[in-house]
Amino acid sequence: MRFWAHDRHDFPLPDGHKFPLAKYRRLRERLVAEGVAGPEDVVASAPASWELLGTVHAASYLDRVRTGAMTDREIRVLGLPWSAALVERGRRSTMGTVDAARDALGRGGYGMNLGGGTHHAGRAAGRGYCLFNDLAVAVSALRAEGFFGRVAIVDCDVHQGDGTAELFTDDPSVFTLSIHGGANYPFKRATSDLDVDLRDGTGDDDYLFALSDALDVVGGADLVFYLAAADPWEGDRLGRLALTKGGLAARDALVLDRAAAWGAAVCVVLAGGYAPDVRDTVEINLATARAVAERAERKV
Ligand SMILES: [Zn+2]
Repeated sequence: MRFWAHDRHDFPLPDGHKFPLAKYRRLRERLVAEGVAGPEDVVASAPASWELLGTVHAASYLDRVRTGAMTDREIRVLGLPWSAALVERGRRSTMGTVDAARDALGRGGYGMNLGGGTHHAGRAAGRGYCLFNDLAVAVSALRAEGFFGRVAIVDCDVHQGDGTAELFTDDPSVFTLSIHGGANYPFKRATSDLDVDLRDGTGDDDYLFALSDALDVVGGADLVFYLAAADPWEGDRLGRLALTKGGLAARDALVLDRAAAWGAAVCVVLAGGYAPDVRDTVEINLATARAVAERAERKV
C-alpha cells in the first residue's frame, strides 16, 4: 500500500505554537526506518486544484485564502498565521486524502494520508488549524470519477467534526460519525448523523464500548474514512479524554476490523495529536500505520 506525504512543504509558525509541525516529517521518516513502508511506497501529494476545492468550499472564501485577504477574525478562528506556504501545504495535505481514497478503492482496499483529517473546515470558513475539508473534497472527487457507493466517516478525533457534519448534512449517502470529548472544542457545533459525547477522563474500556455501539449504528459502508487521531490520548495537551496507547491501538483494530467485516475500503487520515513531546504523537500514528499496512498485506 502507499502512504501520501506533504511534509516537505513547511510553513512559518511563531515559537511555541501548539500546531505539531514536526510530527509529519518524523512520522514519514520512522515509517521508512522501521520498514512499515518502503521508501518508494511513500509518495508526495500534489496540491489540490482550486477547481476541485471549489466543489466544496465557497468561491469567496477560496479567493481570500488564495490571495491572503482573510480577515483578522478568520485568521484567529483558523488558529494559524496566513502565508502562501500554509496554503500550498493545505492544498497538498488535502490532495493526499484524495489520493489515499483513490488507493483504497483501486489498489487493494487501503490507503493512508500522513496528514489530513482537517474536519473543522466548513464551506466558507477555516477553523481549528483546518483550512480545507479534505474529507469532503475527497468525496467530491470520487463522485466525479464515478464512485457512488456509501461512505462512512468515522471521526475519532477528540474534537467534534463540525465542518464535516456541516458539509454532509444534506447528503444521505455519507454517514458522519463523530466520537469526541463532550467538553472539548468546538463549542458551537454542527450535527453529525451520530455524535457521541464522552465525559472528561473517559478511559479505554468505556471508549471502546461507546465506539463499538456507534459503529453498530453506522451499520456498513463501501468506503470508510477513518480519522485516527492521536489526541484522545491521556497525555494530550488539547484533549480531555484518557485513552492509553494500548487503548488507541485497540480502537484502530476495532475500526479496521469492522470496516473489513463490512467489506469496505478504508482511507486513513491523521487528524489531531498534541502530545507535549511530539514523539508520543508520532508513536501513536506509527502504530496506526503499522496496523493498516499489516491488514493491507494480509489482503494481497
Ligand atoms: Zn483534534
